[in-house]
Amino acid sequence: MHTYPELKLHIDGEWRTTAESLPVVNPATEQEIGRVPIATTADLDDALAAASAGFERWSQTSPKERADLVRAASALMRERQDEIAHSITMEHGKPFRQAQLEVIRGCEFFEWDAGEAVRTYGRVIPSGPGVKYIVHHLPIGPVAAFSPWNFPMSQPARKIAGAVASGCSIILKAAEETPAGAMHIVKAFQDVGLPPGVLNLVFGIPGDISNYLIPSDTINLVAFTGSTAIGRHLTGMASDHMTPVLMELGGHAPVIVCEDTDVESAAVTSAVRKMRNAGQVCTSPTRFFVHEDVYEHFLDTFTRRCAETIVGDGMDDGVEMGPLANDRRIAAMRRMVDDAVGHGAALMTGGSRIGSSGYFFEPTVLARVPDEAAVMQEEPFGPLAIVNSVDSLDTAIERANSVPYGLAAYGFTNRADYADRMVDRVEAGNLSINTLEASLPETPFGGVKWSGYGREGGAEGLHHYTVVKNVSHSLSIV
Ligand code: NAD
Repeated sequence: MHTYPELKLHIDGEWRTTAESLPVVNPATEQEIGRVPIATTADLDDALAAASAGFERWSQTSPKERADLVRAASALMRERQDEIAHSITMEHGKPFRQAQLEVIRGCEFFEWDAGEAVRTYGRVIPSGPGVKYIVHHLPIGPVAAFSPWNFPMSQPARKIAGAVASGCSIILKAAEETPAGAMHIVKAFQDVGLPPGVLNLVFGIPGDISNYLIPSDTINLVAFTGSTAIGRHLTGMASDHMTPVLMELGGHAPVIVCEDTDVESAAVTSAVRKMRNAGQVCTSPTRFFVHEDVYEHFLDTFTRRCAETIVGDGMDDGVEMGPLANDRRIAAMRRMVDDAVGHGAALMTGGSRIGSSGYFFEPTVLARVPDEAAVMQEEPFGPLAIVNSVDSLDTAIERANSVPYGLAAYGFTNRADYADRMVDRVEAGNLSINTLEASLPETPFGGVKWSGYGREGGAEGLHHYTVVKNVSHSLSIV
């Protein structure tokens, strides 16, 4: 039987607690399951000093050595899959099976970046005799990273994988609401012998920590996943210090359903994917633009499958969707549903909190939602979908592009010309056609417009963690 771990900071290779702490609550029961320590400025100073020393040492190890160590830590996490998944379900609420898959996905991020670490090739630029121009990609330095609560293990994994594989050190502030996922990662790296100072973990008041770390001269990169509002704030702070940023921010993913597609299959696949992680995913399919010829068929099937979703405690067998992560999401769902219905949208199913204990919310489908409704512009980040009809693909693309976000977008069609038009014109960092998979270890993931900049994963994933240095080397003094 697994137990929820005692929560600690990890600085310079040591675990530590502090005098002040915040409660961690199981969202399925609203019971306190642990307390997460609040880092003091002295702790943050220690973390900065450790990251600085850790970088000096780690950046001098060979890429192969780094890759081997990252793979070894990942292998340990795979062995500990159920223990880590248990913590994730306790603190986040998602079904245990989905938590297990999250652990595997996190490991795949580590394994991918380990593979890329030995392929950060530079190049030799053609030159005249007696001189060489050589481009190197070198680790950028200590990273301040901030990961959110929706994937307690795989979100921190993205940041840690990029930094550690590249030869950087990192101070990660993981989400206070879901701290154990990151702790399990740090423990695995400690167990395989990562040198002290390379990977530091802190928690506290998010604004206090970012205000302290980002202006520090020690920090050479800020990596953040979270809302556009906070990302914009952190980017502004980083720019005052000329510190580069990697920003993975909000989305409001459109789904274009063309008249030629297999409607039944598209609707069922979409409903299942929409309710994954209770919709608390930046790539969650949310704004459905369905051709009018197949609209009623799609809406009926999609609504029925959403309504059939089995909601409950993620520890219980057969549950497909857990609670929302916190009461803020319940309040946001209620506000967006009431506002949409007030503007004339049809509530097809859901729309209410389930029970009074635990942050459970019904899978919710809104149809014929007018543009004036807040949810047409604001990311719901919950189990809520909008299904509107359109008269053509061009209208659908125009509607898809009508928000300031551009993270994931989806299309269902078997027509090559339709697919091609979407590729050319849909504004998104990730377009998926006939699949709702948007983020894989081997593909570059990130946004355009307000969804941020930079890419995680793929061959591009380590670019942000490295800097380019050109070396001009003449064999005689000229
Ligand atoms: P929020 O904007 O307060 O926080 C989002 C994340 O940023 C949290 O992890 C939080 O700890 C962190 N954060 C907040 N203020 C910070 C600061 N000053 N410095 C550093 N980190 C800070 O919102 P929330 O209620 O926690 O989440 C709701 C919204 O956040 C959602 O609507 C969604 O848009 C966004 N979100 C996005 C992702 C994602 O994967 N892109 C994940 C979680 C939340």
